[in-house]
Amino acid sequence: MRDKKNYLEMFDEAETHLLQLSDTVAQLREVIDNLVEENNKLRMSNNDLKSLLIKFQTDAQEEVTEGEEDSQTSSGRESLLGFYNEGIHVCHEFFGSRRSSNEQCLFCQEILERLENHS
Ligand SMILES: [Zn+2]
Repeated sequence: MRDKKNYLEMFDEAETHLLQLSDTVAQLREVIDNLVEENNKLRMSNNDLKSLLIKFQTDAQEEVTEGEEDSQTSSGRESLLGFYNEGIHVCHEFFGSRRSSNEQCLFCQEILERLENHS
C-alpha cells in the first residue's frame, strides 16, 4: 500500500508540473504571437518608408509625371499583396497579424481589389 500511495503522490506531482508547463507554454505562445505581429508591422512600416524614400529620391531627380504616380500605386499594391500572400493581414481591422492557415480575409481582399482597380 505504501508503494501505491507513493505512485499516487508522484502522479499528482507530475500532473501539477504538467499543468504549470501547459500554462507556461500558453503564455509563451501569446508572447510569440505578439512578437510576430509586432515584427510584421515593423516590416510593413519599413517597406512603406523604403517606398517613400525611393519616391523622394525620384522626385528630387525629376518632376513627377502622371505615369510615375501609377507605378507608385501598383508597387504599393504589389508589396501589400506580397505580405498578404505570406499570410499577413494588410487590412485596417487586423493589420500586421497573421491569418490562420488558408484563411481568406474579405477586408484584405477588398483593399487589394480597390488598389488594383485604382492602378
Ligand atoms: Zn485582413
